[in-house]
This record gives sequence, C-alpha cells and structure tokens, in this order.
Amino acid sequence: MSKEKVRPRILIIYTGGTIGMIENPKTKGLQPFDFSHLIDNVPKIKMLNYDIDNIQFDPPIDSSNMSIKHWSQIARTIEENYDNYDGFVILHGTDTMAYTASALSFMLENLNKPVIITGSQLPIGEVRTDGEENLITALQVAAERDSRGEAMVKEVAILFENHLIRGNRSSKVSADNFNAFMSTNYPDLARVGLDITYNDDALLHDTSNRPLMVHDTMDPSVMFIVLHPGMSRSTLEYLLHTPGIKGVVLKTYGAGNSPSGRWFTEPIKDAVERGIVILNVTQCVNGAVNSNLYETGNALAKAGVISGNDITSEAAITKMMYLFGKGMTSSQVAKYLQRDICGEMTEKR
Ligand code: ASP
Repeated sequence: MSKEKVRPRILIIYTGGTIGMIENPKTKGLQPFDFSHLIDNVPKIKMLNYDIDNIQFDPPIDSSNMSIKHWSQIARTIEENYDNYDGFVILHGTDTMAYTASALSFMLENLNKPVIITGSQLPIGEVRTDGEENLITALQVAAERDSRGEAMVKEVAILFENHLIRGNRSSKVSADNFNAFMSTNYPDLARVGLDITYNDDALLHDTSNRPLMVHDTMDPSVMFIVLHPGMSRSTLEYLLHTPGIKGVVLKTYGAGNSPSGRWFTEPIKDAVERGIVILNVTQCVNGAVNSNLYETGNALAKAGVISGNDITSEAAITKMMYLFGKGMTSSQVAKYLQRDICGEMTEKR
C-alpha cells in the first residue's frame, strides 16, 4: 500500500484548559471537563478520516496549575506511544502553553514527529468558539507529510488561529484575541489561512534518525527577576539570596540594559561569584539583547551575566530548568545557555 493511503494515526493528549471547559452552574466559573464532552462538540473530526486515540489528564487542569510533574507526564506519554502514532496533539490551557511548549522542546531530544499544542480562548461548546478550528487544524498539521512521505513538522509547535509557531519561540500575547500566540523573533513555521502554507526554511530538519530520548528531570531552582525603575538594592539582594536558587533569568530593559549604579552591579556580581547563573533576557516582546550597544548593558556582561540574545522568557527559564536538571555545574549551564539546542535562539557566532 502506498504511504499516502495509510490513515494517519494521531494521539490526542488532553490536559485541560478553556478548550474543554464548561460553566459550573453554581459558581458560573469555567472548569475543566472530560474529553468525551470535547469530542462530542466537534463531530467534524470524523471527516478527517484519521485514526485518533486519546489520553486525558485525570482530572484535566487549568494550565495555571501546570507543573514539572505534568510536563514529565506529557513527555513520558509521548515516549510510551511514540512508535504507534504519526503525530501528537496536546490540548492545553493557553495561560502556560508557551512554557509547556518550550519545556517539551528540551525534554524531547531527537524528536522527529509532530507534537502540536493547541487550545482555545472560548470553550469548544460555545457558539463562537475558536477551539473547533484550532483542534481540526492541529490534527491536520500533526498528520501532514512532505513529498518524501516524512512528517512535515518534526518538532514541538503551537498551532493557534492563523499561526503555526515553534514552541520554544512562542509567547502568549493576548488574553482575549483569537490570535493569542506569537513568535516575534523567528518566522512562523506555517501560515494558516485558506491553506496551510508551510515555511520549509523555518522548520527543523533533523535527518539523523536518532531514537527519541526523554529528559524529564527539570530542576525548579530557577527564578525570574524583572527590573523596574524604583527597584531597591535590598529587594535585589533579597531575591538573589533566595535559598537554593541556582539560576536567574534577569528581565532587563530594551537591548539588555539595566541600572549602571553600584547598588545594582555589586549584588549581581556577588551572585555570579557565588555560582548563580544569570541570563540577560529583554522585557521587550521583540528584539534581542545586545550587551555591546550601551554602557548599561555592558556593565552586566562585565559582571558575568550571560546574554540570552533573542530567546523568549519562557524558553530561557525552561532551558535553565532542563540544563540544571541534567546535573550540570554552573559553568556548564552558562556554556550551554549560549548555544542553540533545539531552535530556541539565534546563536551568536
Ligand atoms: N485559564 C485557562 C488555562 O490556561 C485559560 C485558557 O485555556 O485559555 O487553562
């Protein structure tokens, strides 16, 4: 039988989120509901003529409750079912979707099948839901093959409304727009309109065919410090002395700039000397850290802070969890933070 005639086999992993929520009649708040409710609301799925199975979180969760334990559950589910399916669709709440997409991109090494994450802004049972379209398109992307009959997408990606974007380049940019996710520093993997137009140059092409390796030990000893005018030395020092902390993603201004006074640079330098890895990531939604542009950025580099270049905050924090989770020392983590592992940043040459 030719490859085209084989029905694609897709596994849906339903974790929860608005897409499957229904209104609690008493509180009127939205709460996660089970998978059968979700599928009953999308009878069109049958028209795809795919073999679709599902596994659901028990209970499904609002993604604000997503944790390392859940990431590991998703990664292990993919590993256990890897050989039996052509692709995987993860239904997930939008709030932490970009973190999960980033985390999974590091956890699933040598991935050569599609892992497409989607959800919706309105529950699938609602008349104007975006969930039906997102789910159907995600299934189509997960089933898509290239001219050689291989999976078109061999990476973790988010499908949302008009965009298919690399998971570790994504950020949630709107709490109410249907186009809620964007990749501001990297081109879309596909544009979704009348057709799904893939951007072959942007997609990862791993031809090594190495077996999937799952790394599910993520180290939680990391944190964000977000700069703002008015921050005091004592606050900064307090944060940098958080017990057990190994890594900090420092969210700086513009092209990676920060205050140049000693009240700021001394505690930062001290933290680096104590072995805390500090990664400089811009607060801006678009653009990169360029430590050579201004004196204020240069001071951070001199203090031993590493430039995150154009990495997203979501990818930065999960990459640190992944690297420390592998048992690396601070200097090893610092080295790998400057390297692109799976398409999450543009490497400086
Ligand atoms: N609070 C929901 C969640 O992230 C929001 C959503 O799915 O859009 O689970």
